[in-house]
Amino acid sequence: MKANIFDIQRSSFVDGDGARTTVFFKGCNLRCKWCHNPEGLKWEGELLYYKDKCVDCKKCLSACPNNQKSCTLCGKCALLCPMDAREICGQEYTVKELMEIIKRDKDYYVSSGGGVTLSGGECMLKADFVKELLWECQVNGINTAIDTAGNVPWESFERVLDCTDTFLYDIKCVNPELHIKGTGVNNRLILENLHRLSMLGKDITVRVPVIGGFNDTEEEITEIAGLLKKEAITRAELLPYHNMGKHKYEALGLDECEYYTPSKEQMNLFNRIIKGDLI
Ligand code: SF4
Ligand code: SF4
Repeated sequence: MKANIFDIQRSSFVDGDGARTTVFFKGCNLRCKWCHNPEGLKWEGELLYYKDKCVDCKKCLSACPNNQKSCTLCGKCALLCPMDAREICGQEYTVKELMEIIKRDKDYYVSSGGGVTLSGGECMLKADFVKELLWECQVNGINTAIDTAGNVPWESFERVLDCTDTFLYDIKCVNPELHIKGTGVNNRLILENLHRLSMLGKDITVRVPVIGGFNDTEEEITEIAGLLKKEAITRAELLPYHNMGKHKYEALGLDECEYYTPSKEQMNLFNRIIKGDLI
């Protein structure tokens, strides 16, 4: 069994407790307009081209077996490009191959209270692979977390319940119409799965991307605070939108929607709402 992985970040401090290795799976069934990892949307590999780095030396053209009329993702152009203007995104890994990388930082996980986090894209769309990988982590004494948007059948969660220490669960908004508008899908399944995980007493951290122009209102954040209260979830993080993925949209030839970073004052207010100070 293999999975297409588009990034492996070692020593990450933003995807759960302590120092972690975060593995990013390719493929997602949401289309959040503000996604900061657009290279994780498609299942298949992709070639990214960073126009601003290119010096037009044409080495990539002579390297290409297809004269760049079609692309088989052979990677020859990326290897030859002197400016790193071309990048192949997505590589197939087995569980064994990933474990070799994950285990390199085992001492660091132990000393920092960290571990491994599976993210994406949507890693839960590869639940069987995720299960095998997380069991291997646990057998090796490595803490495990899944970062998910939750839009998968409950049966997929059932497969990974016993091998996942923490769920980092993304909630964009409670209002279903707004959710469809921002992500392309209804949030019914997402909220149902969150409820089921909570009823089972699983360790959950809800993560809320705060997107200027989408959900940066007191009304939306108050609804999320109400959801946390209803589901008895005590850990939540608000993550302000940033446009650091902008260059990737250009490199993939995608249009980027215009959203903005919420102000510090807004974030302070929203944090107070989420903590329950204001509801
Ligand atoms: S990845 Fe290979 S086939 Fe695709 S453009 Fe580059 S050299 Fe050509
Ligand atoms: S090899 Fe790199 S720098 Fe040269 S033309 Fe191709 S993309 Fe541009």
